[in-house]
Amino acid sequence: MRWSNYYLMTAREAPRDAEVVSHQLMARAGLVRRLAAGIYTMQPAGWRTMRKLMAIVRREMERAGAVELSMPAIQPAELWEESGRWFKYGAELLRMEDRHGRRFCFGPTHEEVITDLVRRDVKSYRQMPLNLFQIQTKFRDEIRPRFGLMRGREFIMKDAYSFDTDEEGLDRSYQAMYGAYSRIFEACGLEYSVVEADQGAIGGSSSHEFMVLADTGESAVASCAACGYGANVERAEIGDLPRPAAAGDSADGDEPRRVSTPGATTVAEVAGMLEVDRALVIKTLIYETDDGLAAVAIRGDREVNEVKLLNVLGGLGLRLASAEQVAEATGGSLGFSGPVGLSADVRLVADESVRSLNGFVCGANAGDEHLVSVRWDRDVASVRPLEWVDVMTAEASDPCPRCSGGVLRISRGIEVGHIFKLGTAYSESMNCTFTDEQGRQRPAEMGCYGLGIGRTAAAAIEQGHDDDGIVWPVPLAPFTVVLSSLDPGDEAVRSAADGLYQELEAALAPGGFDVLYDDRRERPGVKFKDADLVGFPVRVVVGARSLRAGGAEVSSRQDGGREVVPLDEVSDFVLGRLRQHV
Ligand code: ATP
Ligand code: MG
Repeated sequence: MRWSNYYLMTAREAPRDAEVVSHQLMARAGLVRRLAAGIYTMQPAGWRTMRKLMAIVRREMERAGAVELSMPAIQPAELWEESGRWFKYGAELLRMEDRHGRRFCFGPTHEEVITDLVRRDVKSYRQMPLNLFQIQTKFRDEIRPRFGLMRGREFIMKDAYSFDTDEEGLDRSYQAMYGAYSRIFEACGLEYSVVEADQGAIGGSSSHEFMVLADTGESAVASCAACGYGANVERAEIGDLPRPAAAGDSADGDEPRRVSTPGATTVAEVAGMLEVDRALVIKTLIYETDDGLAAVAIRGDREVNEVKLLNVLGGLGLRLASAEQVAEATGGSLGFSGPVGLSADVRLVADESVRSLNGFVCGANAGDEHLVSVRWDRDVASVRPLEWVDVMTAEASDPCPRCSGGVLRISRGIEVGHIFKLGTAYSESMNCTFTDEQGRQRPAEMGCYGLGIGRTAAAAIEQGHDDDGIVWPVPLAPFTVVLSSLDPGDEAVRSAADGLYQELEAALAPGGFDVLYDDRRERPGVKFKDADLVGFPVRVVVGARSLRAGGAEVSSRQDGGREVVPLDEVSDFVLGRLRQHV
């Protein structure tokens, strides 16, 4: 491809809304252009990267036995009502009506459509296992579209769905996808890790996320270097925390003591005023849930994990109760809530970590007062229902839940893929059944497997860039090689460069590599800057000077090393370089 015929325009400035480096560089390198919030045009060079990535994904999906199909983006509401998600999915689901008033949505995912397809075609255990995939445009009306392709509203996803006759079959399908995803991210040249993920409202028995580690990632990952445990912080378990220093059974007397703590609404203030360890002050937060109010008690020095909490409390969402709701439920003001004397209408859950604390401090549900020397058994469990749960957010240096002696590290990652054992959630609600060997009707065991195409490309840039621009891994670069002719007006240079272009194209194509010939009438400085910005892995420069030095100058974007190579050896030299990379 000649750059003079191509559509690749770079820009000096990044758009103002571009917060992360991948978004800035994709925009500056002319790869994507914003049309509206979270909606992007893939410009030709950006689309080339996507196509290369999609080719890798297709190859590995097919290798793992998945079969490609293509489903519609627009889906009828009835299917979503059958699965129960028309209301559950919430505002992320873009709904619309046609001219006849029939309701549709723009698919954010395709469980409903695939289940409807398979239930019509598959009747017998003999037709399974099946794994169907597509690479297709989704729409999710994200509350905060940002970071360019990383969290768009319209985006391309590879989604696959497996159907098996039993759980062992599902395990095999799941493992095949686990392997395929690992090969995909390896083939892309990305550093990634696989972590346990939250299963959310759908339930299911297992779920893993593939994370590209990067500081700008929106996900936090807890991992243990000692045993390899890794989980999204939304789900991460925590080993046994040391008991706080003074957690004796100091609950002397027959009942808790009331103390005045004027103005002390934070744990730190209460702990300071009463001169106790923050871990001994129990924090009680009141949440509004789909089923009324719930109170959660947790160590004062720790944070509630709202994903874990939602899994415990059930329903579609939760939010902290207002001051008025707190006053009504507890009789006290915000910041002075506690488990003792809480209205019986309020569901009370307490984090396991506070179970061993007896003789703790908590809010008195009365203005400006706290209780000290409180006991769970005597003061709470004896008078009202109380549930012990795990709702704590893992923090760096927490003990590992899986091995003894290991500690958790928290790092940031970009979730590029998500594999999920759905079980029979959809096949039951949507009646996707088959006849088993004994002639009984059974729901299919399903799995679903998503991979973000644009997000993966963005993650590659987060992982590969420097001050001058993108440093693509070879397999994802829009073009593998840029051939820059520095003096296109000079006849000798032009004919050498033209010849080299023909040769490089012929030599590189069989290996799946490609070359962009920068034959533009631009100054050398512009060409060098653009080549660095777009991030072609290999640059070949031909100019009057390089010809005098004996050929063309070949350099690598990654390490900057450059060498003059005789013209007739350039193709082999470049090919050798590229083979080392992939
Ligand atoms: P997130 O927690 O980031 O919102 P999700 O759990 O909603 O992700 P899935 O439903 O598992 O995502 O989607 C599968 C894959 O699709 C994700 O792993 C990600 O790569 C991609 N993806 C999801 N939402 C977006 C988005 N808004 N923009 C770009 N890619 C996305
Ligand atoms: Mg999401």
